[in-house]
Amino acid sequence: MLAGLDEIAGTGRDAQRGGYSRHVWQAADLELRAWFIERAERIGLAVETDRNGNIWAWWGEPGPDAVVTGSHLDSVPGGGAFDGPLGVVSSLDAIARLQASGFVPSRACAILVFAEEEGSRFGIACLGSRLMTGALHADRARALVDPDGITLADAAARAGLDPARLGTDRESLERIGLFVELHVEQGRGLIDLGGPVAVASSILAHGRWRLTVTGQGNHAGATLMADRRDPMVAAARAVLAVQDTAAARPGTRATVGRMNIVPGGTNVIPSSVQAWLDARAETDEETRALLGEITAAVEAVVAENGCSVSVVEESWADAVHFDPELRDRFSAVLGDVPALATGAGHDSGVLTASVPSAMLFVRNPTGISHSPEEFASADDCVAGVEALEKLLRTLL
Ligand SMILES: [Zn+2]
Repeated sequence: MLAGLDEIAGTGRDAQRGGYSRHVWQAADLELRAWFIERAERIGLAVETDRNGNIWAWWGEPGPDAVVTGSHLDSVPGGGAFDGPLGVVSSLDAIARLQASGFVPSRACAILVFAEEEGSRFGIACLGSRLMTGALHADRARALVDPDGITLADAAARAGLDPARLGTDRESLERIGLFVELHVEQGRGLIDLGGPVAVASSILAHGRWRLTVTGQGNHAGATLMADRRDPMVAAARAVLAVQDTAAARPGTRATVGRMNIVPGGTNVIPSSVQAWLDARAETDEETRALLGEITAAVEAVVAENGCSVSVVEESWADAVHFDPELRDRFSAVLGDVPALATGAGHDSGVLTASVPSAMLFVRNPTGISHSPEEFASADDCVAGVEALEKLLRTLL
């Protein structure tokens, strides 16, 4: 285990869910922030917090055209030890190694720790980077409410920020020449390829749709089986259709992880069922094509059960393509490491719209993430630090 991960291993443990629950500006997150600042200052970095609560630790004079690396410290509820902190700790270690070797950078360099990457407290992922780039409007952010009824504006104020200054931060953005995020892999790409480190090629396109299956609500005892138009049965078949459609299109993913049965009584044939579909694929076109096929398949099985279905889009995110020049350069410096697409969102993905961005993945032998089972071996963590050190050496 990297020493930094050991030092924070006791912070924000979740006794109920297992793993860690570290949510922005709550006790565990504040403790981690204080830990990071102390750790960064110990190796001579100058720390500042920007208007959106992202922490910067500068090695030498601040930008412009800086090489910036980092990740996040917050977690999902019951998350693992590596998602986020591995990138932060590896950044600290890579810079410490460069310093120890006597390397003198000819370009500005910083570690950047983003606020609320997981969206676990206020519901919007990559909040710090979205605010910085203007992808999320400050008014909308300020009005977000956590599960305890506290607005983001209040939470930010309690954490020492000025809520009026939240929002697009060109000054910070203009200091970034390029951004590199090291992250534990969240799938099994590197298990299959058999290597410790990969570079990211892209983030899958991603959408969420609400399917409403409508039938005829009725009495569970008085209605003959032949007379039913049961939307629960239709929805169950729709879920199978979703699975079969995605399974037949290599590389695509489709999930129904949430349902709402109306009215939801044991002795009542439901009148309608809502099911939420999450669908992803490598390109925008492929994701739209997947949705089209799913919609047709769902309409067919639902009609066979005498029901109807409506499909409403709730969110859409275009595929993100990391800077190809950086990716190729990294791959060459690191000795032809593989390029992997990922299905998970990241601050580095948000930044691609504004600055050249890249990612490094470290093998996760369980292939499981956002769970206490997420893992990276000590050897692979060290391989990640060494890769990041090598990149920084060529970039700085
Ligand atoms: Zn993450």
